[in-house]
Amino acid sequence: MVANATQKVTGAENVLWDLSVFYAGIDDPALQRDMDNLRDVVESFAARYKGRVAQLDTEEMVDAIKELESIYDSQGRIGSYASLLFSTDTNNPQYGALVQKVTEYGAQINQKILFFELEWNLADDAHAQQLISHPTLAEYRHMLEAERRYKPYQLSEVEEQLLVEKSVTGRNAWTRFFTQLLGALRLDYRGEQLTLTQVLTKLHDADRDTRRDAAASITAALKGKAMELSYIFNVLAADKASDDKRRGYPTWITSRNLSNKAPDAVVDALINAVTSNYEIVARHYRLKRVLLGYDDLTDYDRYAPLPVKEGDSFYTWDEAREIVLKAFSVFSPRMAEIAARFFDENWIHAPVLPGKRGGAFCAFTVPSAHPFVFVNYEGTARDVMTLAHELGHGIHAYLAGEAHGIFGLNTPLTTAEMASTFGEMLVFNDLMSKESDPEVRLAMLAHKLEDTFATVFRQVSMNRFEDAFHTARRTQGELTAERIGELWMGTQQQMFGDSVALGEHYKAWWSYIPHFLSTPGYVYAYAFGELLVLALFNIYQQRGAEFVPQFVDVLAAGDSDWPDQILAKVGVDLTDLNFWNEGLSIVRGMVEQEEALARQLYPAKFA
Ligand SMILES: [Zn+2]
Repeated sequence: MVANATQKVTGAENVLWDLSVFYAGIDDPALQRDMDNLRDVVESFAARYKGRVAQLDTEEMVDAIKELESIYDSQGRIGSYASLLFSTDTNNPQYGALVQKVTEYGAQINQKILFFELEWNLADDAHAQQLISHPTLAEYRHMLEAERRYKPYQLSEVEEQLLVEKSVTGRNAWTRFFTQLLGALRLDYRGEQLTLTQVLTKLHDADRDTRRDAAASITAALKGKAMELSYIFNVLAADKASDDKRRGYPTWITSRNLSNKAPDAVVDALINAVTSNYEIVARHYRLKRVLLGYDDLTDYDRYAPLPVKEGDSFYTWDEAREIVLKAFSVFSPRMAEIAARFFDENWIHAPVLPGKRGGAFCAFTVPSAHPFVFVNYEGTARDVMTLAHELGHGIHAYLAGEAHGIFGLNTPLTTAEMASTFGEMLVFNDLMSKESDPEVRLAMLAHKLEDTFATVFRQVSMNRFEDAFHTARRTQGELTAERIGELWMGTQQQMFGDSVALGEHYKAWWSYIPHFLSTPGYVYAYAFGELLVLALFNIYQQRGAEFVPQFVDVLAAGDSDWPDQILAKVGVDLTDLNFWNEGLSIVRGMVEQEEALARQLYPAKFA
């Protein structure tokens, strides 16, 4: 976004990060020197260990892993510097060239050290187990054992190579074709030719006719490509089925659960808890129908804005800083102390600037440096929550890096949002408690709820569709677009109950969702992450202060163990339906609050 004259002054204009922890500048000779040095280090590492990893004894393994740690650290410093610099000004050709150079360089480095993981998986079980359980290697135990979780499903080297080679013209070719097909799609909307993304945005319009026409336009376009789209879905489902069979994966979701480090029983408990609480979704949409004054709420009304006043609160950067730090410090002084360092030591890049990337993120970088937070701050309530979200990530990375180094830094997606969503929740509750206008409170709650539905309920209903679709493809052979549409409608209507009337046309709406093809089985991880935090928040509300240091320990554990094991240490059993149900009770509580506010504000609508 480009800064313009109407943009308000937030005080974030000069909040820029200081990257000198990596390099003094793009011309710093140390950068090229480090790249050259690392290349030599990697050469000698490969010369020393290649062909021997499966036989290394304990001492040698410690040395090798420590060396690997330092390789990843150097590589991470170079890569972080280039990408952070680029994100602040994507129009700068020098920054662009550096990113490209460093990306190619990184790929070469990775290729040269890849042998380590592959050979480790070839070590025989008895020897591997001896190393994994040896006290000298305790700090690396999880990294070593996690690496081997794919071993039972690994094929011979030749087969693995063949699969990689064939995926270029197989799976990857089909997903790329799908992306291009949808990218090239032009939808006829009231005589205008628009892209799918442009028309999807119109589903959020306040005008009902606009939304209805947008939905009809999307349906017509998808139906026009039904033959191509259902063929792609069928081919990729069959491709996955044959890979799974050859590798010996018992179900369509097994490989995804392995990569998420989530046992099947945990995923089952999550899915069961969410599907048996679909009523929460229905309650919200019933209320939405009343507030909008419609006889029926249809699929194209789902994203309609509520006809209530939105908050126009404006927060300067200093106010945002105070709100966020206070919310963290009320919860945990330790977390607030880390968050404060981001402000005090210039670890944040905050203003909206020409050429700067959009959105927000937290770059973990490497533990020998520290994390950085990137936002485009404009002073809205949402911006304050985003700041809390990214600082949550920053605190998580800081704690995990400090405790476990680079191999403990990156958690699987299922637990990656623990601190971020938690921080956001703390700030949301704080802003809610300060907002005195009930109409604005209602709007805030509705936004929060629909965000939560999108990550929790919608993702699980999509998982139910994937389950039905993969099972049907495996047992019934090729499926028609009509049949896939029936599976889609069945799983979606189940979530909405009688609260939303899904039109017959909605049957085609499975066919544009890229996750189903590019990362099958992935969607539930979003629900997992969000609900985990809500459930932990619920525990916090019950246990109070004693929960705080436990939660900080969970964050510091990072990726040093299986997520269910880490959480077991604070008395959380992820296989327990009740744990997930308690997270859902927070969402239900918000719907109840929303209902009460609506009745108080608009008694006539409920007469
Ligand atoms: Zn996040």
